[in-house]
Amino acid sequence: MTETNQTLTSHSPLAESVLRESGQNVNLCYQCRKCSAGCPISYAMDYKPAQLIHAIRLGMDDLVINSKTMWLCASCETCTTRCPQEVDVAKVMDAVKITAMKKGIKPTIPDVAAFYKAALANIKKCGRMYEVGMIVGLKMRTFDFFKDMDMGMKMFKKGKLKLIPSFTGALTTWKIFQRVKRIEKETDVQ
Ligand code: SF4
Ligand code: SF4
Repeated sequence: MTETNQTLTSHSPLAESVLRESGQNVNLCYQCRKCSAGCPISYAMDYKPAQLIHAIRLGMDDLVINSKTMWLCASCETCTTRCPQEVDVAKVMDAVKITAMKKGIKPTIPDVAAFYKAALANIKKCGRMYEVGMIVGLKMRTFDFFKDMDMGMKMFKKGKLKLIPSFTGALTTWKIFQRVKRIEKETDVQ
């Protein structure tokens, strides 16, 4: 392998973790920046999607996992559809979040992590999203009890928030969670 090739092909722990968690090889990126140009949230990110991918390739693991970028990502997949190298950038964002969580890194935007946890716990329990339960779960995690109350009341008045959860499909969802747990245990991914 030439020195140039070694520079272009990253085997940093984070690049390896991203590959394991998402199947995405960041080394395919040739920095055209189409992902950053199309990202609707990039204006608020500390590192734009292409910069984050490049930082992973450069082995700047600490910078990446302490970044706000992946927590701000809205998973809209615009980046993924624009990438000429078929790098699924949205999946890379998820993989970086998973890696950060597994390493016990405190999320740079705690409310987003709290939302994910509340939503997942809610879906696991009810089989699908039960909004009122999710909101309660989120408030219990963030202790921000009055945030967005106005919007919540408007949604309730319009019948968008149901008081009674539907448990349709709960068993199937529970089986999916069990299966994922089993796979994670078998692969023992750290
Ligand atoms: S998936 Fe995330 S990174 Fe990609 S364009 Fe959407 S918000 Fe930006
Ligand atoms: S669009 Fe794809 S190739 Fe271009 S910078 Fe983004 S990840 Fe890299």
